[in-house]
Amino acid sequence: TPPPNRTENIMTDASVFDQYPLDQWKEPSHRIMDRFSLAGKKGFVTGGAGGLGRNVAAAWAEAGADVAIVDLPRTKDALEPLAQELSERYGVKVVPLYCDVSDKTQVDALKTSLVDTLGTVDVAFINAGVNVPGDDADEPYEVWQKTIDINLTGAYLTAQIAQHIMREHNHGGSLVFTSSLSAHNANFIAGGPSPVAAYGASKAGIYEYARYLAAALAPYGIRSNAVSPGYVWSGIFEGRIVPEAHDMMTAPVPMRRFGTNEEIATAVLFLASDASSYVTGTNLQVDGGYSVY
Ligand code: NAD
Repeated sequence: TPPPNRTENIMTDASVFDQYPLDQWKEPSHRIMDRFSLAGKKGFVTGGAGGLGRNVAAAWAEAGADVAIVDLPRTKDALEPLAQELSERYGVKVVPLYCDVSDKTQVDALKTSLVDTLGTVDVAFINAGVNVPGDDADEPYEVWQKTIDINLTGAYLTAQIAQHIMREHNHGGSLVFTSSLSAHNANFIAGGPSPVAAYGASKAGIYEYARYLAAALAPYGIRSNAVSPGYVWSGIFEGRIVPEAHDMMTAPVPMRRFGTNEEIATAVLFLASDASSYVTGTNLQVDGGYSVY
């Protein structure tokens, strides 16, 4: 579809000011918390079996949305009971869908499955991502390629199907991407950078892609934002680091701790919902203050 004729948007009369209510709270039925609701919305979450993904799926389901939780087929044993539990707990439709986000054919098939199962897509959490071992300054080509394929190309492919569904169904929506602290700062552990070179590049690419989409898709009522988690105790560190490593990692974090999955989920609920209706093209740092240095 060609973009709308931009000259049509030039405002010519005083009715233009009617769109700016000054005191919405004075309406008897007005409740500001309603802006956080996703009642009746349809959404999907990639990396849905992981720590951040399943907590965002839970938040969106509690907020009233039907949700497709999308992950690799190998997560089936976790994804199926998760979908059932969320559906029973929140009384909405929650379905597991399987897709490798780096594979265009599979993502194209996901588009069909999403429309078949949910009807449409209003909100999308573009979140699947990996941290590949060996991702240092001298990383092998394969490490670079795998990281970019899953994190950056996967984000592009899944955001494309989301925004195309929104436009084909003539309604707006909200895209929320998982970038990372590593997109903005070199992680600093024990006096030096930690090895996440391709990861940081992929996450910086995601952030800039989210910003570009914000500009390009605003005429269609589609917002696009990124969240940049710092260290989050999402499950990936469970049993893998000793208390000394915890203290070493959190030394440069002003709040001196990891974040929790729910502390990311609340940020993503804000960006997905009408609570952020005038927010697009931004990056929300949720990192305990790490990025201030
Ligand atoms: P996680 O490993 O628990 O979740 C990631 C999920 O992505 C997994 O369920 C995995 O199966 C899925 N996935 C991997 N490759 C895939 C593919 N090709 N197609 C579809 N799904 C795929 O990790 P998490 O901590 O929940 O991370 C979620 C996102 O947050 C990732 O993008 C990660 O880079 C980002 N992030 C995490 C942290 C943190 O500290 N946990 C910090 C910053 C950013």
